Amino acid sequence: MKPSTVSFLVGAWIAGFAPAPSAAEAARQDPPANYARPCEPPVGTAFLPLPPGAVEPAGWLRDWAESARNGITGHLDERHPTFADGWKGTPIQANGAKPDGTGWPLEQSAYWLDGALRLGLVLHDEALVRKIRLRLDPLVEGVNRAGFGTTFIYWKQGYKPEGFESWAHSQMGRALVALYQGTGDKRVLDALTKVYADYPARMGPIDIGGGWVSGLCNLDPMLETYSYSGDRRILERALQAIGQPDVDREIRRWTEGRLAPGHTDIFYENIRLPAVVYPWTGDPLYLRATEGAFRWLDENEMLPYGVASGEEFGSGVGAFRKTETCDVTSMLLATSWMYRIQGGRDWGDRMERAFFNAGAAPAARDFQTMSYYQSPNRIRADSLPCEQPNCPGPEGNRFHPLGCPTVLCCVGAINRIIPNFIIHMWMATRDNGLAATLYGPSVVSARAGAGVPVQVTTTTDYPFGETIRMSVVPREAVAFPLYLRIPGWCGKARVFVNGARASARPNDKGFVRIERTWSAGDQVVLGLPMRPEVIRGYETEFPSANRDYFSFEPAGVFQHRRLPWAGVVMGPLLFALPIPDVDPNTPAAGARWKVALDEAPGRSDGGIVAVRGPMPAHWDWPLDAPVALEAPARAFDWNPTDAQALPDGPVEGTASETVRLVPYGCTKFRISMFPVTEAAWRPVHP
Ligand SMILES: [Zn+2]
Repeated sequence: MKPSTVSFLVGAWIAGFAPAPSAAEAARQDPPANYARPCEPPVGTAFLPLPPGAVEPAGWLRDWAESARNGITGHLDERHPTFADGWKGTPIQANGAKPDGTGWPLEQSAYWLDGALRLGLVLHDEALVRKIRLRLDPLVEGVNRAGFGTTFIYWKQGYKPEGFESWAHSQMGRALVALYQGTGDKRVLDALTKVYADYPARMGPIDIGGGWVSGLCNLDPMLETYSYSGDRRILERALQAIGQPDVDREIRRWTEGRLAPGHTDIFYENIRLPAVVYPWTGDPLYLRATEGAFRWLDENEMLPYGVASGEEFGSGVGAFRKTETCDVTSMLLATSWMYRIQGGRDWGDRMERAFFNAGAAPAARDFQTMSYYQSPNRIRADSLPCEQPNCPGPEGNRFHPLGCPTVLCCVGAINRIIPNFIIHMWMATRDNGLAATLYGPSVVSARAGAGVPVQVTTTTDYPFGETIRMSVVPREAVAFPLYLRIPGWCGKARVFVNGARASARPNDKGFVRIERTWSAGDQVVLGLPMRPEVIRGYETEFPSANRDYFSFEPAGVFQHRRLPWAGVVMGPLLFALPIPDVDPNTPAAGARWKVALDEAPGRSDGGIVAVRGPMPAHWDWPLDAPVALEAPARAFDWNPTDAQALPDGPVEGTASETVRLVPYGCTKFRISMFPVTEAAWRPVHP
């Protein structure tokens, strides 16, 4: 983008807002939308997020969120000095810590503090919020006491973080934004404003291939802070930062799909940044850059649970390729920004697919242990490739109270997954409506129409059931539009309002709009019929772009390959053949998993049948899942190796049999990327 374009747009906008409007002008202007910030960008985002706590989980989702609170999220500070001492301004006895207490613990404990705070807010758990504030409040006070020119990092005077420290700083900035949004405490906004009004405009590169973290991730807490405080120095610095010539050059490459595999967590964090800035510049190139980068990931590294591969670095597509848990967190973050800015249902579909599958797999059922990596297929705790990857070590595939005990990013980052999904289940719209953006059991309390408090209680087993019931209770009768996302996979949605069938035809963003005067007790029922669907693709080689990083043998893993695989999805859920587990690190002896997916001849559904049962009284991702699929398969002698996980082509196998598949997130050991028989295979044209 040309710098002159930025200054023109911003200049015009600031000029337009600077003079106080005359009384006549004020009368002509519409009042700001519910949840609009004091400083809105020149290009309005599609949705206005609700503050953390406006959406409270219910039903099965609440059970899961409470397990997180009772497990890792609520107690991580009791498990390791990184989390006990991070951000206190004192030295920390931990791996990767520098003598002054900076280094790895700042990043890792910021992840946890942010996630635990948000979980406390969405659960309205005062004890958890108080615990996290005991850590964050001294930081806020330290910044507010310090002179101008400080940062969150120990509120040192004149110190400006660079590189890794700047990246860790951005993670703390995000936590403080949540604290301000959730509490309205002006001291928090004062601290954010003070720090970001004097933050370095040169924050580092945005390029992905090198695998370097970027201080540019401060852009989102900066722009959030600006939207609340209106301190123009912050906006100017943010726009200078994204406008650096090397950053601009790289962003332009993304619009043309010119990307290379990089560290997947950094990839997701970085690719959203042009879109985050887009509303403030209005330059559509910024939006196209982020979209282009998402497309590149879809084409090169997407695994069927909805998150790209990342054995630290992007690892192509394969049945035993892995995804770091940090990547699930950053994928949901990146996608939530696109959803908020652009408003298309596809972003909601992506978030649900990642959350209901990849979000569940790395946590143990009781949320007391977690795993650094997950993979579509897992047959052992030292699962293929068993000697690799080199980083972070053999503990990477095992469940442990600290994830990988020597590298604590993932056990910090996992705490953000559940609350960030819940926060984005509902968003406000610019016509003072409310949009159901992600589905699951919840209660939202928000203002709608002419600022009237409204509560919508959503009762559903979704995604394990197909029916979503909403009870609307405004404080007084009020007119506003209610928007319902119709997922892209659902061709036959049904909508009923107070028992009467309503149009289920979505608008160009994929939402049904119901405009009416709502009264207490109004009922909306949304039916989202799900059908099993077979997805297909090819296992690819490890990317040679990162060969230095993947400096392991066998060298054959880098050689070109196109090995067919198939998987089964239904609605947002990926299904897997479960290998029963004794515990998350021990598969039951003798379980059968050496099968290829088959297809029953002459049947439009391929012979895959859904079987539904009741939801359990307490939700903990059970193998005895309330929804399962019966699918045809054929046994064959399958011996996956590091060098070749899947057969070269379709296999014959023995007689066709029926296997029971359950949601991927319910399994700890599983096959979800299957070899195929001839009957189940269709060539895929990339
Ligand atoms: Zn990690």
